[in-house]
Amino acid sequence: MINGIKPLDRSLRWGMVGGGGTSQIGYIHRSAALRDNTFTLLAGAFDIDAERGRAFGASLGVAGDRCYPDYQTLFQQEAERADGIEAVSIATPNNTHFAICKAALEAGLHVVCEKPLCFTTEEAKELAALSEAKSKIIGVTYGYSGHQLIQQARSMIAEGLLGEIRIVNMSFSHGFHNEAVELANPSTRWRVDPKFVGPSYVLGDLATHPLFLAETMLPELKIKRLMCSRQSFVKTRAPLEDNAFVLMEYDNGAVGSLWCSAVNCGSMHGQKIRVIGSKASLEWWDEQPNQLRYEVQGEPVQILERGMGYLAPRALEEDRIGGGHPEGLFEAWSNLYRRFAVAMDASDRGDKALLENFWYPDVHAGVTGVQWVERCVESADAGATWVDFE
Ligand code: NAD
Repeated sequence: MINGIKPLDRSLRWGMVGGGGTSQIGYIHRSAALRDNTFTLLAGAFDIDAERGRAFGASLGVAGDRCYPDYQTLFQQEAERADGIEAVSIATPNNTHFAICKAALEAGLHVVCEKPLCFTTEEAKELAALSEAKSKIIGVTYGYSGHQLIQQARSMIAEGLLGEIRIVNMSFSHGFHNEAVELANPSTRWRVDPKFVGPSYVLGDLATHPLFLAETMLPELKIKRLMCSRQSFVKTRAPLEDNAFVLMEYDNGAVGSLWCSAVNCGSMHGQKIRVIGSKASLEWWDEQPNQLRYEVQGEPVQILERGMGYLAPRALEEDRIGGGHPEGLFEAWSNLYRRFAVAMDASDRGDKALLENFWYPDVHAGVTGVQWVERCVESADAGATWVDFE
């Protein structure tokens, strides 16, 4: 149970690039990082507009001389201070992630980077190699993977309660972009422009979330090959897709499907994962995150509730309030940031034993996400043909 006791005897000196006052995701990064006193926000280059970023940083209580105009100045000047930052979070549009992440590692910082880590597998592997060479952590914010019931599913599957895994059915399909809302919304505008978002829209923006939920629940399952079909229903978005279907074959004979969409009218989020085994299935939906459906063939459905004593130790470890009260995205993110801090501290202490058995969305999760999107685009653009994953 998490009750406010710090998991570390220190708080990491932390900065942010992006996540400014007008951003969609900046607040949840701060809320999660600051929740358990594992990070202290001391510096940032919060906004593409330097003045706006400075004013925003000041409003958060960051000292004026540590609100920098850009990430290069942030990393350079913080490195010169005895009390400079030790870790940075990157919450900027996708086209900047690779350069900022690389510069942060080169400046000797641990990194929390938004997905996707970058645009190509080659770049992702370069970041993974640099992270290892510098002994610095890269954490990737696949937010809901920190939810306790995702960890519960992982435990139940590992225990064999589902039997042999046959099918993984995933979706992240909302309806918010059924029209060209990007004409009026800057946060959506860059998402449908290849200059900022790279080779894909919903595959990179949405699909990698349930994909990582599957990786978390089923760490042994490896994708062998996949096939993708993608569409641009709002024509001005072409060649970027606002809808896609992906079929996957795993190395144990199991199969998977993933539907991602921004034009699923009426759907709020639609992030779901259903894992089907030879004996039973598990199903989790982000709009009702405190319930996990456990369906044994031939028996009544069981709804497992978050925070209850019958859950696996792994799922109770990060309980913050007990059952009944809802916990959701903010708590899941807080659990991730808590884990990022523990991993960063262990890395600084050279504690390899802790790191070997410690779960968090790490740089390898980031690499897989980038490689998966790359393969999906390759498949779709070749007319929805099967392509090998590796
Ligand atoms: P946004 O457009 O709403 O905000 C981007 C922010 O970055 C703004 O404050 C902008 O001023 C700032 N910025 C842009 N370029 C910058 C630069 N070079 N230096 C400093 N600041 C800069 O975007 P968003 O929706 O908040 O998305 C940001 C990132 O977060 C994207 O990579 C997106 O994919 C990701 N995201 C992740 C999740 C998740 O669940 N993990 C959810 C939403 C967004």
